[in-house]
Amino acid sequence: MNIHEHQAKSLLAKFGVTVPRGAVAYSVEEAVSAAKTLECSVYVVKSQIHAGGRGAGQFLDSETDKGGVRVVKTLSEVKASAEEMLGKVLLTKQTGPEGRRVQRIYVEEGCEIASEFYLSLLVDRNNSCVTLIASIEGGMEIEEVAENAPEKIINVTIDATTGFRSHHARKVAFQLGLRDKQVGEAVSFLQAIYKAFIELDASTIEINPLVLNKSGSLVALDAKMNFDSNALYRQPEIEKLRDLSEEEPAEVEAAKSELNYVKLDGNIGCMVNGAGLAMATMDIIKLHGGEPANFLDVGGGATKERVSAAFKIILSDINVKGILVNIFGGIMKCDIIADGVVAAANELGLKIPLVVRLEGTNVELGKKIMAESGLPIISADNLGEAAEKIVAAVRGDI
Ligand code: GDP
Ligand code: MN
Repeated sequence: MNIHEHQAKSLLAKFGVTVPRGAVAYSVEEAVSAAKTLECSVYVVKSQIHAGGRGAGQFLDSETDKGGVRVVKTLSEVKASAEEMLGKVLLTKQTGPEGRRVQRIYVEEGCEIASEFYLSLLVDRNNSCVTLIASIEGGMEIEEVAENAPEKIINVTIDATTGFRSHHARKVAFQLGLRDKQVGEAVSFLQAIYKAFIELDASTIEINPLVLNKSGSLVALDAKMNFDSNALYRQPEIEKLRDLSEEEPAEVEAAKSELNYVKLDGNIGCMVNGAGLAMATMDIIKLHGGEPANFLDVGGGATKERVSAAFKIILSDINVKGILVNIFGGIMKCDIIADGVVAAANELGLKIPLVVRLEGTNVELGKKIMAESGLPIISADNLGEAAEKIVAAVRGDI
């Protein structure tokens, strides 16, 4: 789960990380009053969306050619920036071509930057540990640095049993070129970030840029945090920060029905039980020249309602030109699947080809329900045949 920059900064501040003073605003008036209370000579107005690259981003439906992060000096400039951002769609390298609508902005006190660094902590699956990554190339995307100047990347793998030690922190500080009192400050800063990472069940914390300001202090100028969704049950305060408007609507809907759904770019909707079978189904669709529109695992103990909800979610994707239902009835009974599919198809008025492959418990009953439904269902007896048929049907060949 992702959160906004302003939320990440206030969480990190509680752990002792230095962040600029700021206030969130949902309207132009709130932005101006936020700036007034900050009482400073330079303000930074920042679009809050769940994507990076905002500074270099572009607004799609606005006259302005300025980006999603502005450094300004007056209240009237704060107001103008807020007007140009709020309600507008911001396109960045990370948003995808459709961009993201800015629904809130963050107004901060400006910071005089002496130098910029990159810092992140992440769950490192290759090394089965938390890894800290730092670089003197602040503000740049780390992927770019990794490609063009890998020698500038500092990696520290952290042993979970001993945690992040001050010698780790000193090593990073020296490699970033920090000296004297800044080293001590960096040690506290890095330890605070690590503590936040562990205690909040984060999966990533990225501070880009981490800056040294003109008075020689380290400040987190940007903050991105991701959390392990499987740990949210024990992080109720984090879960409250969820902004569903930043998430794919169909995925939010699917999660309510306890379905594992991931939207993809193709045009063949898939309804499958079991993650492994869902993956195999997507593979075989591709093998036959088709493109899956989604990954969807209805789970082992699905009810008629859940199957029906899954079917509706697949149909809500306007790119879907055909559906493949591939169910192996083990714990799940084929007649329940058939009931759910028929109910949803009748309710929504199915206008696209539907190929169904059922196998396992109560398969005959399931097939009978489908056959007697009066729906134009194309049945298949095995996975290969099912994939072939749906790809052909979507192409208009059958
Ligand atoms: P991102 O583009 O989404 O990663 O957003 P950032 O929060 O990183 O902001 C983009 C850039 O704006 C940063 O890399 C900084 O160079 C610049 N910036 C942000 N805040 C300040 C500030 O207070 N003062 C100055 N001078 N620059 C800032
Ligand atoms: Mn940034």
